[in-house]
Amino acid sequence: MNQASMRGLIFVISGPSGSGKTTLLKTVLLDRLLKNKLAKSISVTTRSKRSGERQGRDYFFVSPGGFLRLVKSKKILEWTRYLGYYYGTKKDFLEEKLKAGKHLALCLDLNGAKALKKLYPKNTVTIFIDAPSINELRKRIRGRCSKTKQEEINERIKLAEIELKNSCAYDYVLKNKNLAQASIKLRDIILKEIRG
Ligand code: ADP
Ligand code: 5GP
Repeated sequence: MNQASMRGLIFVISGPSGSGKTTLLKTVLLDRLLKNKLAKSISVTTRSKRSGERQGRDYFFVSPGGFLRLVKSKKILEWTRYLGYYYGTKKDFLEEKLKAGKHLALCLDLNGAKALKKLYPKNTVTIFIDAPSINELRKRIRGRCSKTKQEEINERIKLAEIELKNSCAYDYVLKNKNLAQASIKLRDIILKEIRG
């Protein structure tokens, strides 16, 4: 899909695990002014489902073999490895939504943000979601799923520290302290970009 035929914008949302990307995006997708305009990209992943997550709504959960087949058959636009699991953006999903005239939001890591900015420089807006502190991140990761092992929380925090160093690479940085206020800020950024 070439850029000239693209009307939609691509909003890449990144940030440390537990910063609130998924929660904020869920709220914004329900916003009266955005619900018919903005769609969420559903990535493919090899990590296992958390409680409350649903196949095809939160992610397409696949086996490592299934993921590699998708990559080989060029169905994945960009992909990354995070804590030993694969995560990738489905090419057809993104193109269908953009062709239908929607704007798209994706929760991706820094690799994904860079890849989309490179593929669609004129249409991609990158937003980094920050949290008040590392301690707060730990609390949120633990609170999100009681089954998350301490080892995994530590790994996520280690990566968070690296991710925080790269926040300056993004078009916008938004601190998610108060959820309601941060949701409004995210909505306003998206509306401002859409309205040009
Ligand atoms: P991410 O997608 O960035 O990994 P989530 O959206 O899954 O993060 O949020 C992690 C946890 O933190 C969830 O349980 C969510 O309800 C909670 N959370 C999100 N934003 C806030 C906030 N502003 N204050 C307190 N808890 C929050
Ligand atoms: P989680 O396991 O917390 O859902 O996601 C782990 C990390 O992978 C997060 O930073 C999330 O944004 C990122 N991620 C999820 N899907 C994709 C994807 O398709 N591509 C890339 N590059 N990163 C992704």
